[in-house]
Amino acid sequence: MLAMPVEPTKDADSRKHAGTLAARLQAAGTPGDDEERAFNVALDGTLAALLPQLGAVFGIAVVLFSVWDYWIAPGHAAATTALRLTLVLVGALGYIDWGPRVSVAWRCGLVYVTHSGAMILSSALLPGGLVLALPAITGIMFPLALLEPRLPRLFLLLLFPSALFAALGAAVLAPQALASSLLVYLACLGLAACTAVAQGRMRRAAFLAERALAYSAHHDSLSGVLARGYLMELAEHDLALAKRYGRPLAVCMLDIDHFKRVNDHFGHPAGDALIREVSKACSSELRASDYFGRVGGEEFVCVMPETTEEEARACAERMRLAVAAIRLATPAGPVRCTISIGIAALEPAHVDFGVLLAAADAALYQAKESGRDRVVLAERTSS
Ligand code: GH3
Ligand code: MG
Ligand code: MG
Repeated sequence: MLAMPVEPTKDADSRKHAGTLAARLQAAGTPGDDEERAFNVALDGTLAALLPQLGAVFGIAVVLFSVWDYWIAPGHAAATTALRLTLVLVGALGYIDWGPRVSVAWRCGLVYVTHSGAMILSSALLPGGLVLALPAITGIMFPLALLEPRLPRLFLLLLFPSALFAALGAAVLAPQALASSLLVYLACLGLAACTAVAQGRMRRAAFLAERALAYSAHHDSLSGVLARGYLMELAEHDLALAKRYGRPLAVCMLDIDHFKRVNDHFGHPAGDALIREVSKACSSELRASDYFGRVGGEEFVCVMPETTEEEARACAERMRLAVAAIRLATPAGPVRCTISIGIAALEPAHVDFGVLLAAADAALYQAKESGRDRVVLAERTSS
């Protein structure tokens, strides 16, 4: 996500089993609908962040151009300065974030159309001004193409200023000057479009690579479920919320029983495949608000916000049965396994997630000690 710093995504789907790293890295080359949407949101975010500064710099430059007006035609400069100031002040409304009802695309349109319109109109009022100011009029397309690399939007933004330039040029320029100015204008339009395409490609590639990198940092490369560090980060946050609002939260710690035997009898690749199957089976038993991660070789943690001890036990039983139903086909025959689960529900004594996890781990130890393939609740610290 979120170069935009990539925020840890909080949506439930990304917390659960969300595909392999290979698939995500492949997606970096071929963006899907999700990525395209996220990329557009990121572009709008950058535009919204830059508009107050870049728009204001653009506005000041347009107004300061009145010095040039005085140099070219002092007699007209008062009128052109007033025109520049008025249009820039109207366009300055676009620097302001008006909330979600006025999209950044409209604000950007207002800034660009008024500011470039001020340049074109005031130049047209000066004798020969439209030709003399042509480098400035065409030059401002390029920063726009860097900020807005989406071609349809770029062309929409440039439509009105271009029509204005053509109409005023037709009114005030001699045919040869008009033809030559339009030719230069169109060439610059084409170059600005090429700039936008190149910029769009580079920004898309950087954005997708950053997302793929964030995905690989947040997910376990073998199983696709959450990685330990990211799970702990999310869990600390949810635990703080649960404590603050007095809401329930439960944690399950899971461990595959006699996993070493699987590796020994069926080989390491079969062990790896079993880890993936167990991850998938457990993830599919969870609610959208729960999340599941791999915290060790064949150890997993499931965090269940808004979940009481009893609800967590029911879910843990479902996970246990789902894992017991796995039949992993291997050349040496089907592999099956069981898991042991320790559950701890949040209590005031659990000052942080580490303490809560230690309680779940102690319950898991009890489950192992008492015969495996079972769910054990942690002892309560308070009655
Ligand atoms: P228990 O029922 O007491 O948990 O027995 P266990 O055999 O599962 O116990 P233990 O935790 O000691 O063994 C875990 C084994 O998991 C040891 C290690 O070789 C194996 N392992 C750890 N990470 C991986 C991995 O990524 N892939 C595979 N195939 N095996 C792994
Ligand atoms: Mg084990
Ligand atoms: Mg273990």
